Amino acid sequence: MSLAHAHTASIARASSSSAPRAPRVSRLGARRRADAPTARATTSPDTDARDGAAGANIVILGGGFGGLYTALKLDALEWRAGAPRPTITIVDRADRFVFKPLLYELVNETLASWEVAPTFAELLAPTNVKFVKGDVVGFEPENARVARDGTPCSTDGGTCALRDGGTVPYDYLVLALGTSTSDGGVIGAKENAIALNTAEDAERMAKVLGDLERDGKSPRVAVIGGGLSGVELSAVIAERLAGKSAGGIVDMITPSGRVMAGAPPGQREAAMKVLDKANVNVVGGRVTRLDRVEAADDAGAPSVATKVTMNDANGEESKQMYDLVCWTVGQRAETPSDWPLSMTATRKVKTDATLRVNGHSRVYAVGDASSSAADLMDTNFDVLPSTAQVAFQQADYAAWNVWASINGRSALPFRYQHIGDMMVLGALDAAVALPVGDITIDGPAAAALRRVAYLYRMPTNEHRIKVAQRWLEDGVEDFARDPAAFLARLPNPFATFP
Ligand SMILES: Cc1cc2nc3c(=O)[nH]c(=O)nc-3n(C[C@H](O)[C@H](O)[C@H](O)COP(=O)(O)OP(=O)(O)OC[C@H]3O[C@@H](n4cnc5c(N)ncnc54)[C@H](O)[C@@H]3O)c2cc1C
Repeated sequence: MSLAHAHTASIARASSSSAPRAPRVSRLGARRRADAPTARATTSPDTDARDGAAGANIVILGGGFGGLYTALKLDALEWRAGAPRPTITIVDRADRFVFKPLLYELVNETLASWEVAPTFAELLAPTNVKFVKGDVVGFEPENARVARDGTPCSTDGGTCALRDGGTVPYDYLVLALGTSTSDGGVIGAKENAIALNTAEDAERMAKVLGDLERDGKSPRVAVIGGGLSGVELSAVIAERLAGKSAGGIVDMITPSGRVMAGAPPGQREAAMKVLDKANVNVVGGRVTRLDRVEAADDAGAPSVATKVTMNDANGEESKQMYDLVCWTVGQRAETPSDWPLSMTATRKVKTDATLRVNGHSRVYAVGDASSSAADLMDTNFDVLPSTAQVAFQQADYAAWNVWASINGRSALPFRYQHIGDMMVLGALDAAVALPVGDITIDGPAAAALRRVAYLYRMPTNEHRIKVAQRWLEDGVEDFARDPAAFLARLPNPFATFP
């Protein structure tokens, strides 16, 4: 059976299944029958213009930085007066949007879950965007075919299939499934290490650390990976352990001891200073396996540890026991490889510069799981980085281009504008590399700048205001508790003057 047929079969099974479906999904199906534009072949945005009159069904797979921000932008755009508005639906397997750059603040428990990972129900309440909770397993365009060069093509809408048997029909589709952490084939990594990709991951790390701290233990923690994420996590955990009476050890394990290889030099320097001060050990090694070991501690109580096996640059093997192993390396695009899409070797969906998926005139792709032929305005990049910055900039263009397609207007090519790099190095420490020159600011001033920048990037005004209010209240409480310490932490603009 061809892949295309396999999809048709699974969707048909899902549609005829007697299993109960999520009511919202069923309603969508019913709405489409009433309002969907008549199926016809369209190849240019201009011929799509009539869909606006029928109230197009825009479905966005994935509610992360790419998907959620595309939906919010589409909802905010002006739709033709008198014509029915499109139905905009986000499908995500999680209940919550995750502001991933702030996951470290869940590990050191300086922010609450609702600030970093608000629920879709709460975020979308003031909008017209619908939310369907579901794990998307397939997508099938109605008039799917394959071009001579092997590129899967379609010119009309189609149907998405969910794991629970539900189906979600679309007239326009935006793919934004992002990436997850890959174990890179390392034996035992999935079972014995905690990745940092979801709010649940961060909360699990915080719980393990909290339990160890409550037991009065001085834990040994391994952070696998010496990239940006490995350094940020090592710094945050080392600071957390240093604040506890029992202390602890953090080993950052990275092949050949390389740290933040591609980062701006100023930012790397600031990070190395912090790692050094926090006594984080940079261990050169390639991890080959992780094993769970049950033992008894000094007092005879049962304890669980993880044995990490690694090879150094000379191939010499060593083993070390850890109380917690955090995994920050390897990314895997979430879009399944058997979907009828043209993909790169790393499973990123190929799009043209307008973010329209190659071969599919009504399918767009944004974020980590997409690979676009866009112009890169910043000459420091050869390809678009997998960052929230790229995803939310693409969201504006994807939303506009779907709108333009429906309304017979010209599509805009995406152009990426790099606006700097920010990294957290502690509760009141960060390093911010500015987009011009090689200028990095660090310390509390950078931490404040990072918080303000992220506040500005929060998905909705309502959420932004709630979070801002909480941060202001925290500041006032801190000041009331210990004014001298609070003032001492404030950035001194004259610090570098003689
Ligand atoms: C710890 C950490 C720190 C980071 N820090 C920064 C930073 O400081 N600056 C920066 O610019 N970037 C940062 N990033 C990267 C940034 O978060 C990502 O580039 C960004 O989230 C990509 O957006 P996206 O929409 O492509 O994917 P995501 O935000 O990952 O969203 C994908 C969504 O799709 C959903 N999904 C996936 N598969 C399915 C499925 N089959 N069915 C239904 N739903 C599905 C997921 O639940 C998720 O909600 C960081 C990432 C991490 C993990």
